[in-house]
Amino acid sequence: MKNAQTPRDLQQIRHLRLFQNVAANSIEQLLQEFRGCELEPGEILLSPFNRNQHLYLLLEGELKVYLGSLDNQPVSTLLPGDCAGEISFIDNERPSAYVVATQPTQVLRLHRESLVKLFQQSPEMMQNLLELLCDRVRQGNRIILDSEQNANVDTLTGCFNRRWLEHVYERESTRCAYNQQPLSMLMLDVDHFKAYNDHHGHLAGDYALCLVAHTLRKQLRPKDSLVRFGGEEFVILLPEIDAEESRPIGERLRSSLEEITTFYSPVGILPGVTVSIGLAQMQAKDSLEGLISRADAALYKAKQQGRNRLVG
Ligand code: GH3
Ligand code: MG
Ligand code: MG
Repeated sequence: MKNAQTPRDLQQIRHLRLFQNVAANSIEQLLQEFRGCELEPGEILLSPFNRNQHLYLLLEGELKVYLGSLDNQPVSTLLPGDCAGEISFIDNERPSAYVVATQPTQVLRLHRESLVKLFQQSPEMMQNLLELLCDRVRQGNRIILDSEQNANVDTLTGCFNRRWLEHVYERESTRCAYNQQPLSMLMLDVDHFKAYNDHHGHLAGDYALCLVAHTLRKQLRPKDSLVRFGGEEFVILLPEIDAEESRPIGERLRSSLEEITTFYSPVGILPGVTVSIGLAQMQAKDSLEGLISRADAALYKAKQQGRNRLVG
């Protein structure tokens, strides 16, 4: 990082978020504490391996923020007016992210020794700094939420995955039992799917799985959970519905897939698929494993009886 001229022109910097509502004479005073620096494209400004003592204020160019490794996708882009390093600047710990210049970039940096002066000189600037920190915390929470949601979703079909099933069963079985309401499970398995893949290719098989997921999902209530349980197996949890009521629901799902004889896909027109379905209703103190094994046993019978049918 090369030293550069610290801007003396107040107009150039007073509109920046860190200086909002800060009196001009205070900015002038504070500017004496800042140093101008230049970064080349690819230059690493902050890294979890190096302790950071500075708050950086981006004047020109662009910085990207990476979590964990520089090989990951960047989690955010910093543009002129944004700050970097504010967390480690305050707590004197190592930065939690990599911050890298993607273009020729100019920053102003402030050493943490000047923090006390900052407090004394301008409460407004401290307020701005706190607001920037709040943004960072909220952004961090959003990233956690996104990765949490991604961890529960199957990437091919967009259905929930097994991890989610464990979580949602815990919640729904407790809720239904408490309200003395039933809960049913449908376990679906695509028929002769190995042959489908063999005839039409694995990619075609992937599209057929997406068709199944899409067809099922659009017929379910928001409180029902559609889970891709394994390769070509799906599980549907139906809260507040007993076996008697879930039979026509399962039957409707099965026949809606049977009716799709062909569908359009990016690899051309493909034949539809049928599913076999096993049905089981939750019993008192049923574990997820217990309910699954009864739905699975019913599914096995549906396969034995000739497929494309519902048993249970
Ligand atoms: P059955 O009617 O008895 O269920 O026969 P099947 O051929 O469907 O059953 P089997 O368990 O023998 O084969 C399942 C096939 O599903 C084999 C596997 O290659 C395929 N499969 C599993 N996951 C995926 C996937 O994500 N994409 C594709 N295209 N195929 C998958
Ligand atoms: Mg199977
Ligand atoms: Mg199958």
